[in-house]
Amino acid sequence: MMDAYANSLKGCVHLPDCLFCKIVEGTIPSRKVYEDDLVYAFHDIQPQAPVHLLVIPKKHIATMNDCQPEDQALLGHLLLASKKIAQEAGLEESGYRLVNNCGRDSGQLVFHIHWHILGGEPLGPLNA
Ligand code: 5GP
Repeated sequence: MMDAYANSLKGCVHLPDCLFCKIVEGTIPSRKVYEDDLVYAFHDIQPQAPVHLLVIPKKHIATMNDCQPEDQALLGHLLLASKKIAQEAGLEESGYRLVNNCGRDSGQLVFHIHWHILGGEPLGPLNA
């Protein structure tokens, strides 16, 4: 099923004005830590913890609110990829936080859906 889904996304349109679409395309540089057919992950440019990675789908989706039923397999794939990325960053035993910001009140700055992987030290309470 994932092969068919991955194939259906090949050639998916990237938005010309989207920062993270440009990072996926390679027109804006990034420090890549992981890539497969559906997902791309890289270091955050302004880390908020000793390890701060961003995991994004290659497909442009602006926010969680824009996810559709047909994105179910993509989102599941992204979460399992995030687990692997966190393990490869050495965070499996110590633990980590996986965060998605959605919309204005969350402080979402980049409107291409992404998950932050934060770790490498004890993290404060979520609302600090
Ligand atoms: P948000 O607030 O939208 O959840 O998080 C966006 C994240 O993207 C921020 O942590 C910010 O530091 C990061 N970011 C913004 N611009 C760039 C960039 O050009 N390159 C990288 N690697 N990260 C970026």
